[in-house]
Amino acid sequence: QVTDTLAKESPVSPSYDWFQTDFLVTIVIYTKQKDINLDSVIVDHQFDTFRAETIIKDYSYLIHIGLSHEIQEDFSVRVVQNVGKIEIVLKKKENTSWECLGCPLENHNSLIPKKDTGLYYRKCQLISKENITHDTKFFCLMLPRSTHLQVPVGQHVYLKLTITGTEIVKPYTPVSDSLLSEFKEPVLPNNKYIYFLIKIYPAGLFTPQLDHLQIGDFVSVSSPEGNFKISQFQELEDLFLLAAGTGFTPMVKVLNYALNNISNLRKVKLMFFNKTEDDIIWRSQLEKLAYKDKRFDVEFVLSAPTSEWNGKKGYISSGLLSEFLKRSSDRSKVLICICGPMPFTEQGVRLLHDLNFSKDEIHSFTG
Ligand code: FAD
Ligand code: NAD
Repeated sequence: QVTDTLAKESPVSPSYDWFQTDFLVTIVIYTKQKDINLDSVIVDHQFDTFRAETIIKDYSYLIHIGLSHEIQEDFSVRVVQNVGKIEIVLKKKENTSWECLGCPLENHNSLIPKKDTGLYYRKCQLISKENITHDTKFFCLMLPRSTHLQVPVGQHVYLKLTITGTEIVKPYTPVSDSLLSEFKEPVLPNNKYIYFLIKIYPAGLFTPQLDHLQIGDFVSVSSPEGNFKISQFQELEDLFLLAAGTGFTPMVKVLNYALNNISNLRKVKLMFFNKTEDDIIWRSQLEKLAYKDKRFDVEFVLSAPTSEWNGKKGYISSGLLSEFLKRSSDRSKVLICICGPMPFTEQGVRLLHDLNFSKDEIHSFTG
């Protein structure tokens, strides 16, 4: 019976085909799913190896081929959403006719539960690094031209560096380049940049090394992971965000997505917990956003404020939450996202249950 249930849950396996013109080779993936988009496919071409991973629910469908001929560095990816078709258009280096696409490599043309696939990395270049607070920096990395990768809302990636001969890997949550769209710098049309807000811990294993990278140096970036689903936003009316310290990072894209894409949305409220005023990431952007968009409010709570601080104080508590989490109407559809140090998140989730919010109304970001 268990096997029966699993069989029902696994999606129908996609298939693929390819065709060519004098100049182009097009690989078509028929996903047999409707809810796919440009986030659903990750394409890498490194050396002769071509790899296209399509994410379908909790599964991964892999095209993995040693190409028979050379191709140019850049390629394009298109999604025909209503028929669930993904087209990857490669440019031939020489205008000869290919007899075959290439030779299949490990797990080619297979659908595997995502949890059983290893992390795949590509090297990204450090483009810029900017101080945000006394210990937190804004990093911009550039994907190789031969990679198509978009990090979905609520997901994280792993960064990898080799430190004194040992590979060290830590998870980080990419953010948008800004909270305020008019401040957006021009970006390349195909999302080649990934932005991070990362706190440097002087005694930490990974972050001091990351901080020592020079502009132009490389860091390996994995494919995205995480269990947040955009469908959690369906019909949403009230969105509450509880963030502590760098636990703010997943909230950035959640906030941008919600304010720009959810038509029923009435209220987005962020309660942002930090030790001191100096620790608040993007404070002025948050205040500007609250001024600009009447649906958005932000409240700062400090656990170690100076005597001048007139705002809210302390750790996460029942008192703070019950005052903050007011639905816009009795039956409004609510989602509460929470992220921060483990004790903060655990305590927060306990308090939310005590306040009668259901499991479906709470999303906690954890490793
Ligand atoms: P660590 O070596 O882990 O040390 C961190 C701190 O703890 C240091 O101050 C260190 O001195 C202290 N410490 C270490 N060991 C001990 C010990 N035994 N006893 C007492 N103290 C100790 N962080 C971000 O800044 N931005 C993000 O976007 C982000 N996203 C994340 C997403 C996920 C899903 C998760 C799980 C974490 C995320 N983090 C993020 C945290 C990040 O992964 C690292 O944990 C963080 O950068 C610290 O790494 P580190 O190796 O530099 O420090
Ligand atoms: P911090 O030490 O600056 O603390 C920020 C606030 O967290 C404090 O002001 C306090 O209000 C609260 N807090 C801290 N310890 C607490 C405790 N024991 N009980 C209740 N509340 C407490 O935080 P930081 O150094 O920025 O750390 C952020 C944490 O968020 C890290 O542990 C990081 O791994 C985690 N994080 C997780 C994800 C994720 O899982 N997706 C993403 C980003 C960050």
